[in-house]
Amino acid sequence: QFVYARNVLSAGVHKMEYLAPLEKLIEQFRKLPGIGRKSAARMTFAVLDLSDEEVKAFSDAILEAKRQVRRCRICHNFSVEEICPICADSTRDRTIICVVEDAKAVLAFEKVRGFRGVYHVLGGVISPINGITPDKLAINDLIVRAKDASEVIVATNPTVEGETTAMYISKLIKPLGVRVSRLAYGIPVGGDIEYADEVTLDRAIEGRKEF
Ligand code: ZN
Repeated sequence: QFVYARNVLSAGVHKMEYLAPLEKLIEQFRKLPGIGRKSAARMTFAVLDLSDEEVKAFSDAILEAKRQVRRCRICHNFSVEEICPICADSTRDRTIICVVEDAKAVLAFEKVRGFRGVYHVLGGVISPINGITPDKLAINDLIVRAKDASEVIVATNPTVEGETTAMYISKLIKPLGVRVSRLAYGIPVGGDIEYADEVTLDRAIEGRKEF
């Protein structure tokens, strides 16, 4: 028997094993990005210190965020309404579409005040080894939108998959007579737009090159 934890030797490594309900919560926290077992255990014990009301508010907030936030019908960005605030904003230039991998990249570009176009969230990048074929991404919707655009800026990350996806998209859109451009990168190869600063992103948009 143990109080709430015991040290067990598993595959030659000492590991703390907690009571079953605690292990269950630790496993849930570990699903979050950047959270290892130690951090997850710390969070789990922090939850035990909260009042019942606080725990309920915490779990309700998780459920509500998941239930209330959906994908914008036009650009696939996160939205509470059917159409997101960016697509609904009549002051945005709808003829310039910035294509990004995920909603986090939209947030990064929104910090750049110079950009007044709209977005298209692909929902990933083409990666056959991971089973992500073009039909799994919001590419067909993009082609439909591109027909009314003057320029499509492909702002996928500078990774192998990101470049492959950018090439694929440009081959589909260029025949429509629409200008297709790629960001000029100050972002290192293999880097992530999500973590790029405002100045770097601003320059990347300003210096974009036609495909
Ligand atoms: Zn939208």
